[in-house]
Amino acid sequence: MSDRIYNFSAGPAVLPEPVLQQARQDIWNIDSSGIGILEHSHRGKVFDRVIQEAENDCRQLGNIPDNYRVLFLQGGASTQFFMLPANFLAEDATADYINTGAWTKKAIKEAQLYGKVNVAASSEDENFSYIPGLDQINWSANPVYAHMASNNTIFGTQYRQIPTPPGDAFLVCDASSDIFSEPIDFSRYGMVYAGAQKNLGPSGVALVIIREDLLDRKVRTLPTMLRYAIHAEKGSRYNTPPAFGIYIMGLVFKWILDNGGLEAMQQRNNAKAGVLYELLDSSSFWTTTARQDSRSMMNVCFRAPSEELEKQFIKEAGENGFSGLKGHRSVGGMRASIYNAFPEAGCQALTQFMKEFQAVHEGTAAI
Ligand SMILES: *Cc1c(COP(=O)(O)O)cnc(C)c1O
Repeated sequence: MSDRIYNFSAGPAVLPEPVLQQARQDIWNIDSSGIGILEHSHRGKVFDRVIQEAENDCRQLGNIPDNYRVLFLQGGASTQFFMLPANFLAEDATADYINTGAWTKKAIKEAQLYGKVNVAASSEDENFSYIPGLDQINWSANPVYAHMASNNTIFGTQYRQIPTPPGDAFLVCDASSDIFSEPIDFSRYGMVYAGAQKNLGPSGVALVIIREDLLDRKVRTLPTMLRYAIHAEKGSRYNTPPAFGIYIMGLVFKWILDNGGLEAMQQRNNAKAGVLYELLDSSSFWTTTARQDSRSMMNVCFRAPSEELEKQFIKEAGENGFSGLKGHRSVGGMRASIYNAFPEAGCQALTQFMKEFQAVHEGTAAI
């Protein structure tokens, strides 16, 4: 029997158990080298293998076109918020941003340090409960790039249709909380980035997939560490890279490949979220916060009839082996984060627990 519990944390989040088992061994001694993964030189043979396989498996998994580079960078997704405009947005140029939540707001704020920002669409008017439709986007005349976040971790919304920016503008996606949870067509994007700690591995490292021709652009002089081109030229080893994060990501890529790839992930994730949404939709006790057409398959946000009941639910859930269900303070209520590695059995168990809680409290609910 496992001594682990159901972890609904939004991030850092649950990792696949086979990955953790392998890491447990490799921390002690990897590839029979007599040295653990944390102790190997980032320029040695063992780490050569680790980073090479991580990149190859990532490419295979995402069906990434040859004219894209795969980078492993430090500073999480938030460093990409400023690295992107620093590299591509000149002071007098404009970038378009679609504002769908707290993370895109932060990305906008950083871009404004470097150039002009046009907020092409926003769902802030309804507390980010939906994804703006393609016909609600007002692109600027000539943006350098357009930025979106495919899944909004805090508000539990996710794109169903990918927008196409105007002219030569390239599309950039913050995919931190849904990368590799479903198939993705990289050719639609100039750059996709993701902090690892939701679907890919430990915090601190970001996966950046960037179209090669963009690396030749230069809009200002930057510190070396902030230039995509140098990281691409040096194979993500300009300095000591986040080696352990890259190693874990590599294992996660292999785990997804072993489990049928992105189509299989999507099926599993839809089934998992379906279990929760079905209960939420069929009950008058629970309500969802995201608009139905914008719902996330990764972060399921829901409310109980009163804040007292929500507090009690979260407490009792914790006592029963369901961790991490407290919603973000800007939404309130509960949030079940059910990333790739989260098992369907956990969604079944949670709905069972929710039904029992509802049965006890339905009559007493202060509505
Ligand atoms: C978690 C998250 C981030 C921030 O990631 P850090 O690695 O903590 O910087 C950015 N964007 C989205 C969509 C996220 O879910």
